[in-house]
Amino acid sequence: MSHRRPALKRLVAGLAGAAAVLSAAPAFAQDYPTRAISITVPFAAGGPTDTVARTVADAMAKAMPGANFVVENAAGAGGTIGVGKVARAKPDGYSLLVFHIGMATQPSLYRKLQYKPLEDFEFIGMINEVPMTIMVKNDLPAKNMAELVPYLKANASKVTLANAGIGAASHLCGLMFQAAISQELVTVPYKGTAPAMADLMGGQVDLLCDQTTNTTPQIKGGKVKAIAITSPKRIPSLPDVPTMIEQGYKDFDISIWHGMYAPKGTPKAVIDKLVAGLQQALKDENLNKRFADLGATTVSTDRATPEALRKHLASEIDRWRPVIQKAGVYAD
Ligand code: ASP
Repeated sequence: MSHRRPALKRLVAGLAGAAAVLSAAPAFAQDYPTRAISITVPFAAGGPTDTVARTVADAMAKAMPGANFVVENAAGAGGTIGVGKVARAKPDGYSLLVFHIGMATQPSLYRKLQYKPLEDFEFIGMINEVPMTIMVKNDLPAKNMAELVPYLKANASKVTLANAGIGAASHLCGLMFQAAISQELVTVPYKGTAPAMADLMGGQVDLLCDQTTNTTPQIKGGKVKAIAITSPKRIPSLPDVPTMIEQGYKDFDISIWHGMYAPKGTPKAVIDKLVAGLQQALKDENLNKRFADLGATTVSTDRATPEALRKHLASEIDRWRPVIQKAGVYAD
């Protein structure tokens, strides 16, 4: 009989432990958050993803009294370093990620991706959609596609196209652009499009395709020349810039979407709080004005949900896989 006692003890201790965990979970969620919540942006500070994350963080702090958000930039390798960092973070609700369409394109672009976008995250919700602009440095002698394409073909070996690394939105747009004009260009990777934009303004690179959340002020201020909008319709914040479709590139349609994620295993009660905070934030007047001024469209509340983000991500992975396979671009 004596051998049963330790087993019984272990069972009782185990049950007590389980009960403690069960009762701790709701108490933890009730108190959440008790310290600053980190939002990782996988690109350099001052760029478009950073702008979206900081705008959302401000509005969520207002929507969740007592909550405090800190945006952290973990840039490099087309965003994969920052995304990997959040995938491996403790799933306690204090490590979040704001990322764009790259979440859907990376699985097709990287042979050895250290995480699985659909499996290694909890989904909070979609944030917004943002068109891109194709731009050239001011002294490049072209102001539209009809003038730009012959110039690029004649100068292909010396023209440089900036991007934020393989898997970045700027990389994806650059791939589509080179395919559309049937001309390969020399690409220059940066840790984000904030430094790429600085070099475009300084004339160190010739071409860049980037979200309007980064490009609107520079285009309006005459610091770079906009050649085209990448989404099917012109946008109110840049009404004079024609679309690629208008300029004869009929399948050119790329718009960037952003979502918010947490590491897999983050308690549901915590995710629920964050979803409520995000949904409230997306109704914020300042957020909406800022996004509209920068050409971004805030998603409706029914898309700012875990299910909508997961579904969108899955469909975008399927949408981009054949495009990337056709382009034949891979990274290790
Ligand atoms: N939006 C950029 C890109 O993906 C990166 C950034 O936010 O800096 O190209």
